[in-house]
Order: sequence, then structure tokens, then C-alpha cells
Amino acid sequence: MAKRIFNFNAGPSTLPLDVLKIVQNELLDYRGTGMSVMEISHRSPEFDEINESAMALTRELMGLDDKYHVMFLTGGASTQFALIPINFAADGKKGAYVDTGTWSTKAIKEANILGGAHLAGSSKDNEYRYIPKIADLDVPSDSAFLHITTNNTIKGTQWHETPEFAGVPLIADMSSDILSRQIDFGKYAMIYGGAQKNLGPSGTCLVVMHDDLLQKCKDGNPSMWDYRTHAAKKSLYNTPPSLTIYIVKLVLEWIKGQGGLAAVEKTNQSKKDIIYGLMDQYPDYFKGTAKKDSRSWMNITMRLPNEDLEKKLIADAKAAGFGGLKGHRSVGGIRVSLYNAMSLEGAQKVAAFMEEFKKVNS
Ligand SMILES: *Cc1c(COP(=O)(O)O)cnc(C)c1O
Repeated sequence: MAKRIFNFNAGPSTLPLDVLKIVQNELLDYRGTGMSVMEISHRSPEFDEINESAMALTRELMGLDDKYHVMFLTGGASTQFALIPINFAADGKKGAYVDTGTWSTKAIKEANILGGAHLAGSSKDNEYRYIPKIADLDVPSDSAFLHITTNNTIKGTQWHETPEFAGVPLIADMSSDILSRQIDFGKYAMIYGGAQKNLGPSGTCLVVMHDDLLQKCKDGNPSMWDYRTHAAKKSLYNTPPSLTIYIVKLVLEWIKGQGGLAAVEKTNQSKKDIIYGLMDQYPDYFKGTAKKDSRSWMNITMRLPNEDLEKKLIADAKAAGFGGLKGHRSVGGIRVSLYNAMSLEGAQKVAAFMEEFKKVNS
């Protein structure tokens, strides 16, 4: 039996063990084909079933109807940063962006290369420790769209309300909290996320888009850059990342098997309560970097009293079977990522480890 650790990596990140076992079982002979999914045609009935199921499960879990197109694209979430303005920032109309840290900043950078971005709000003034208040956002009514990053993987903040501005389509980068809780996905015109945080291995970016927004794609772009190409061909215009889509499908089935988003949300809530509970008990030792009302359920960021203690905690944790607790290189500190596939047991055990570490190293 392989030795598995509690993997708190921020992305690529831990996958459900049940899913990995299915992949292992089906690797050499996918359902009697005598081939692995990696070796079958993306035009075969077997792959067609995988692709159709993955699209249907995405809609089912999000509670969306078939007005929404589901696409599995390549180039990661980072490519969407460019494709969004390429497709929707037409006729001098700009997108409005809320800058809540590294990934939003990168999305804005691409928009600025491609016609410009309107800054609707920002938390840069306080090192991105908070999510701006919706009432304070400046979203011109003729904006091509409003773009937000629902969970800020690096800064450890998360939107807990959905901004709605009449007539302005809402686009969200949900890379690190997609399908982690119940929200009204129907309020969004476009949702996208790199699979490698909460959906599967790296290699695809899930894009969910309402048909009304799809119809607004600008003409004249190369086929691969036009969302209409991928929606019409169900992500099969060119060869898709078939192994990744297959594993995403298994993860979606796993989420459904857990009881869907209601059940997943309940577990995720318990997990984050355990870690934030510990931090609130010892606020001078585990110093949260996010403002309380903006705390992320998925990526919990903190600093210890000094960098030597942070290094020691990371090293001791690794020796004790807890991996991936190092904060992003741009911010340092400790980051506990609690994606769907991290068990409640993992959160409990790492909290117990951290409390013991504090006792011994105070
Ligand atoms: C990881 C991440 C990205 C980048 O995703 P890629 O698939 O590597 O391009 C973008 N946005 C957020 C919020 C992320 O967490």
C-alpha cells in the first residue's frame, strides 16, 4: 500500500483517494477497450460519454440549465485572462475589474494589453487583506462585463457575496473555490477555473458560459480564440486534454456521491472553522493575514512570530506527514489549503499538530 501524506498544496493539489483508485484500476484497460483513456480517440464513443457526462455533471452540480455551455479548454485560467477581453471588450467597451490580488492583477494586465480595463475596486491599499465592499464598487453601466476573482489563492481572501450590476455580465475566476460551496451560479454569465485546485489534475480550464454572453463574442478572431468554436464543438474542435477531462469527470461524480454541494459545503465549513478557531485562540502566534470578514474557506494564510518559526513549522510538519504548508513565495508565511478533497480528518490532524508545535516552540 502506497504511503499517502496529508497534502495541503495550493495547486496542483490533493485529489480524492477514491478517484485515484478508479484511475489506477482503469488505467491499463478502460472499460473493456484494452486501452487507457490516454490512448483512445477523442472522437470515440467512450470518450464522447466521458465528455458528455462531465458537461452534464457540471451543470447538475451548479444547478444550471442548458442555456449554459460547458467547455474544457487548454492554456489554464491564465489564457482566459486574455480570451475574455479578446472576445468581449469590443467597440471600445471595457471590462470592469476588481483587483483583489495576484490573479486579478494578472487578469487586468492582459486586459490592458487588449484595449484596457476599468478599475472597479481594489484592496491594494492594504496588501489585499480584504474584499472591497460591493457598495463601494465603481461599475459603469456600459461596462462590457464585471470581472472578479472569487477566491484569492495567494492572499487568502474570498468573496462571500455576489456583486450584481444590472445589465453588466458577471465573469468570475473561480479557480480555487469552484464547486466548494452552494452559491447561485445562475448570477454569473461566465465562470472559469483551472482544474488543478478543486476539480482534478492540471491540463484543462473549465469554462461555463451563458448563451447570452457567448452570442456577444466579437467576430474576426482566430478560431481557437473564439469561445463560439469551443462551445459549438463541445471542446472537441482540436484534441482536448482527454485524460484530465476523464479525471475531472470522476471528481464531479465523487462530489455528487458526497451529497453534492450541500454536503461538500458543510464539510468545508467544518474544516475552515477548525483552522480559524485555532488561529483565533492564539492570535499572537498564528497571525491571520486576511481581514475576518474576507477570510477564505479554501486557502488560510497566516504568519508566525518570526520566519525561523515558519521554516521550522514547515519542516516539522513535513516530517509528521503534512505537506504543502508553505505560503506562496510572494507573501511567505504559512498557507493551509483546504480544497474539497482534503478530509475533515486532515484539518483536525494538522490543527492538532499546529497547536502542539506552538506549545513546544513558544
Ligand atoms: C491558480 C490560479 C490561476 C492560474 O491558473 P493556471 O491554470 O495556472 O493558468 C488563476 N486564478 C486563480 C484564482 C488561481 O488560483
